[in-house]
Amino acid sequence: MTERERIRELYGKGQLPPEEYAPLIDERNPEEAEYLFSLARERCHAVFGDEVYLRAIIEFSNYCASDCNYCGIRRSNGKAERYRMSREAILTCAGRAHSFGFRTVVLQSGEDPAYSDEEICGIVRDIRREFPEMAVTLSIGEKSRESYQRYYDAGADRYLLRHETASFSLYKRLKPANQLLENRIRCLLDLKSIGYQVGAGMMLGAPYQQTDDLVQDLLFLRQLQPEMIGIGPFIPHKDTPFRDFPAGTVELTLFMLGVLRLMFPEALIPATTALGTLDPKGREKGILAGANVIMPNVSPVENRGKYLLYDGKICTGEDAAMCSACMERRMAAIGRTISRSRGDAPGWEKKDRAAGC
Ligand code: SF4
Repeated sequence: MTERERIRELYGKGQLPPEEYAPLIDERNPEEAEYLFSLARERCHAVFGDEVYLRAIIEFSNYCASDCNYCGIRRSNGKAERYRMSREAILTCAGRAHSFGFRTVVLQSGEDPAYSDEEICGIVRDIRREFPEMAVTLSIGEKSRESYQRYYDAGADRYLLRHETASFSLYKRLKPANQLLENRIRCLLDLKSIGYQVGAGMMLGAPYQQTDDLVQDLLFLRQLQPEMIGIGPFIPHKDTPFRDFPAGTVELTLFMLGVLRLMFPEALIPATTALGTLDPKGREKGILAGANVIMPNVSPVENRGKYLLYDGKICTGEDAAMCSACMERRMAAIGRTISRSRGDAPGWEKKDRAAGC
């Protein structure tokens, strides 16, 4: 058996030792990638069947107190047109998503201190009361453990907080000096221990990123064991310090999706909008590489074009009805069906919650 055959057999069984991660990534080729994707699809099918879960994203504020070098809504970008949605507007938007069959709503914003914990809890409680069969995912950045606990007690089930990179040196180049990887990791560990389904993930093809950084991501994810893993290619935004760096590639993103599916057979892994931005069939390719979640944007159309973390973002014009129908068609074309369930991580059950905020 050749060395490559040995590696193929090990990753087919999900038993690749960490020292093989770098050669796996560096020496990938189209034939190996296809083999990897076929294994990833099999593994995904064994756990989830042909179903793909939909998550309705509501981007409710594009204010951000942070200043990440890659992000179009960073604090220093004076050209970003800012908006905030009211509690009532968010509830209306969640209601529309519910009426089109979405059973998870993802509330996403920059690091916006204008929303107090009480307000976030109130929004979560409103949605859970009006639409009890809907899961609520939060994606609102780094908070204290106490805040995370309050949101959980109010009814939030999942929390997305991409670690972006597990490499301390790369993190410093991507993030402002006052944002530390140690705190990001602390947040993720707090979220896990509270009982959330936790989503981490990294950017692929980020400026200065090396293979070793990706190896550190895989090792970190192996330790964290997140229920959700979101990865996407870096795409430059014209009003950021990283405007002149080349975008990451669809090819590497798909390859890493396949690797992650084999490492985490039960994880909820989205084929992200960024993938669809770089390639019109990017999301379909992501599903065929091992992803099993699609996250359409259902924010009010007038805000869509303002939540631009990167240039060229797709789906800034359609409303929730069109998104839902479009995804259904796209998934049917590749032999997948859209699940109308909440789509929790296998085996996850909510720990008893306290009285709420
Ligand atoms: S990546 Fe997130 S935290 Fe960083 S500037 Fe953008 S919205 Fe803010």
